[in-house]
Amino acid sequence: MTIQTALLSVSDKTGIVDFAQALAQRGVRLLSTGGTAKLLAEAGLAVTEVATHTGSPEILDGRVKTLHPKIHGGLLARRDDPAHMNTLAEHGIDRIDLLVVNLYPFRETIAKPGCTFADAIENIDIGGPAMLRASAKNHGTEQGGVTVVIDPADYTRVLAAMDSPSKGPGYGLRLELATKAFAHTASYDGAVSAYLSSLAQAEPEQNATPERNEWPATLTLQIARADVLRYGENPHQSAAFYVDPSCAPGLLGKFVQYQGKELSYNNIADADAAWECVRSFNSCACVIVKHANPCGVALGDTPEQAYQKAFKTDPTSAFGGIIAFNQAVDENTARAITSQQFMEVLLAPAFSPEALAVLAEKKNVRVLQVSTGNGQNDFDVKRVGGGWLVQSPDVHDITLDQLRVVTRKVPTEAQMQDLLFAWKVAKFVKSNAIVFTADKMTIGVGAGQMSRIDSARIASIKAANAGLSMAGTAVASDAFFPFRDGLDVVAEAGASCVIQPGGSVRDDEVIAAADERGIAMVLTGVRHFRH
Ligand code: 5GP
Repeated sequence: MTIQTALLSVSDKTGIVDFAQALAQRGVRLLSTGGTAKLLAEAGLAVTEVATHTGSPEILDGRVKTLHPKIHGGLLARRDDPAHMNTLAEHGIDRIDLLVVNLYPFRETIAKPGCTFADAIENIDIGGPAMLRASAKNHGTEQGGVTVVIDPADYTRVLAAMDSPSKGPGYGLRLELATKAFAHTASYDGAVSAYLSSLAQAEPEQNATPERNEWPATLTLQIARADVLRYGENPHQSAAFYVDPSCAPGLLGKFVQYQGKELSYNNIADADAAWECVRSFNSCACVIVKHANPCGVALGDTPEQAYQKAFKTDPTSAFGGIIAFNQAVDENTARAITSQQFMEVLLAPAFSPEALAVLAEKKNVRVLQVSTGNGQNDFDVKRVGGGWLVQSPDVHDITLDQLRVVTRKVPTEAQMQDLLFAWKVAKFVKSNAIVFTADKMTIGVGAGQMSRIDSARIASIKAANAGLSMAGTAVASDAFFPFRDGLDVVAEAGASCVIQPGGSVRDDEVIAAADERGIAMVLTGVRHFRH
């Protein structure tokens, strides 16, 4: 279907003049709003202002520009419905075949230091999403429909379709662009909703997790869609993000995105893993996550130092990782990260204006601010075929006085602190988890293996690959050693002390092995499986 009339109304004006010129050369009539029309006219293009076209001026500081039957009728009339076409003729409404809109930069506006509430509100686009949704709804049939473009990267594809034998975008391209438009408006509204919810002052009441035998016969979940995601874990899966509106501060559900591409399903899952781990530390910490597992965790005097230590654990895996801090990110930290590695997501409770300016140079990086607080989910849910597994969250935290030394060698004060650090990290590593640490930094992480001895081997291989010494390390195992072989592997790698739950029928054999090798071992009596 040929394109006769196009409406162009864009905030991001990248490539719009060239595109409009190419449309004009192909005989397309151009309609446009204030700022866009001015730019096109300055480039010497014949353009009709929407205000002239509708006979209604832009009013209320631009809040109402295109909200008019002459626009929405032109976009929404069914092309293959004679009654609709007659109605257009009756009211003197022209069809609009191509809509080119990108929205007020809401995310960019709220990311600016000093952004006021009024700035944020004025940057909520109303007419743009209305037109995008109208056009996407009316992308039509094989017989024809509206082409909707939100991304300058698609301009050339539309022109190519106009130059093809079909003389315009076919159904396939119109459907694809309509899908993209709806994903865009959904994500845009998600950002607005997250921003407004971050302003909420009242701390919602936390639901208590039911005790054993108190689980209700049925569960009702009150969750609200925050975002439609591009796809799920893989591109052939569709996905959405739902938040718990009663979610307490401190949980990921209350983040504000400052910049970067849309969050993907995996980004959100990994950001949550990183945030849950980093917020479990009281002192300044950095966590780098890849595929839901921490590949570097460290404490430091400053966020930059914590990051440098965490990065050292496994620089290879850190590439494309999710990086989380439990303190404000400053300029030095932002520079240290951006000069050293590519990352998908960076999250922290705050960012200095200087840090945001540094990060803005890497515009694809998703920067999230997560509200602080110690909220917990009331329960964890996992979907299984035909049902749900529900449990209380793993919030158990061990203290020094709960540890039981079982070897002849007793850990020093410093070793005890290292063991507690290792134990805390192991809780966030998928089972079977083996974590080597030294000086409040991970040295080697073995995750997700089906046998504990393989996790131990992998942790030591990774430390060797990163050129880190294992001598004198403190090691955590998320569950007991079923045989002495796992203990032998960590001892041979250089560990000087071990923390593990105990409780195996072969505890005696494992403790004897530790004594034989002269290493200290403490038992927690609690395990942290994580699947
Ligand atoms: P321009 O720079 O052309 O004046 O404005 C372009 C922007 O205005 C686009 O981002 C578009 O989404 C937005 N827009 C178009 N019509 C309306 C409207 O009726 N109300 C509001 N608030 N924004 C609109």
